[in-house]
Amino acid sequence: MIKNEAMNISILVFGKNNFIATLLDQIRDMADFNIEVIDNFNQVVSWIEITPPDIILVQASLDGSMELCGWLKDQTKLSCIHCILFDDRPGQLNDRNMYSWQRELEMSAAALEQGADAYIWHIIEERTDHSLAELTANNSLILAQLIVGLRKAQKYRDLIRANDVLSAIAFADSLTELNNRRALEWDLPRQIQRAKIQKTSLSLIFLDIDHFKKVNDTHGHVVGDRLLQMFCKRLQKNLRCQDTAFRYGGDEFVLLLGNTTNDEALVVASRLNRIISDEPFVLSNKLAINITISLGAACLSDQDDHQGESLLHRADQYLLQAKTAGRNQIIGSNYLSRVPHLKAISY
Ligand code: GH3
Ligand code: MG
Repeated sequence: MIKNEAMNISILVFGKNNFIATLLDQIRDMADFNIEVIDNFNQVVSWIEITPPDIILVQASLDGSMELCGWLKDQTKLSCIHCILFDDRPGQLNDRNMYSWQRELEMSAAALEQGADAYIWHIIEERTDHSLAELTANNSLILAQLIVGLRKAQKYRDLIRANDVLSAIAFADSLTELNNRRALEWDLPRQIQRAKIQKTSLSLIFLDIDHFKKVNDTHGHVVGDRLLQMFCKRLQKNLRCQDTAFRYGGDEFVLLLGNTTNDEALVVASRLNRIISDEPFVLSNKLAINITISLGAACLSDQDDHQGESLLHRADQYLLQAKTAGRNQIIGSNYLSRVPHLKAISY
């Protein structure tokens, strides 16, 4: 008996209801599995695109069966689906009975070339002792192919899970848990492409903590680390849902602001500048540290490259200007906002 260890393996049958009725008890009665039966090519393709199953059982005599196998193999994202083609076409079955085993192998090879992962003769009649033995052997083959499909599905799921964990590690900054620079390099070209295609605005803010070195020099790196963590938490908490924060390196951060014009980016930058400087970061009952940030804001233009280099460079230049102009301020195109130092920076 086949066990569905993951308890959520799904099987899609592309066949008529009477086809599933002729399949083995093990398939028909597998209550643990989600089995869906569809007999229309367009419907089956839509179903697979929305809810890709782990295994597909295809009835060869149904219109569109070969097209379905070929289509599946062309979909690289669906290559994990195990496709078993059951040949119940009377002509093929007759040929198989009439000719030698070489012919049978040729027919099997031809069917596999069309895209199925496994090819099984759908033998349902037990007319003689010989064909009864063949039926039993064929049923074993069906079970074995189903087990291969389940194993493949399980391995694929394990791989996806491991991949998700590795991606999360690869894209996260270990100190602050913010997205890291690698994540920015991955995300920025994609957001630019989306903005260009959908003709929406995209802005980028480069920000840097002012005089952060002094924190380390005065209180040590452990306090500096803790402050960076608290700073990132405050930053994250105050972002809008379309904004993504990245630690670019050291005490430098990049914010990608989806659907955000130049003016809106400057409003966001100004708000963040205030949120960071207004409240000290309380590290213990004896230590509270005030910090300020400088920000450069740029908005994607038609002239910008697809990788985001020119956009990043522009925001970085504005940040540099904000630093040179005295820190604790925002600079963007056509805009200069000098936020007065309301509080002395106390260390
Ligand atoms: P500025 O206003 O010009 O930005 O001055 P700054 O002192 O912030 O700039 P600078 O680039 O001279 O120093 C950045 C400091 O950030 C230097 C480094 O000690 C500190 N830093 C970078 N990464 C970390 C980190 O992960 N932990 C801690 N504690 N400090 C860090
Ligand atoms: Mg700094």
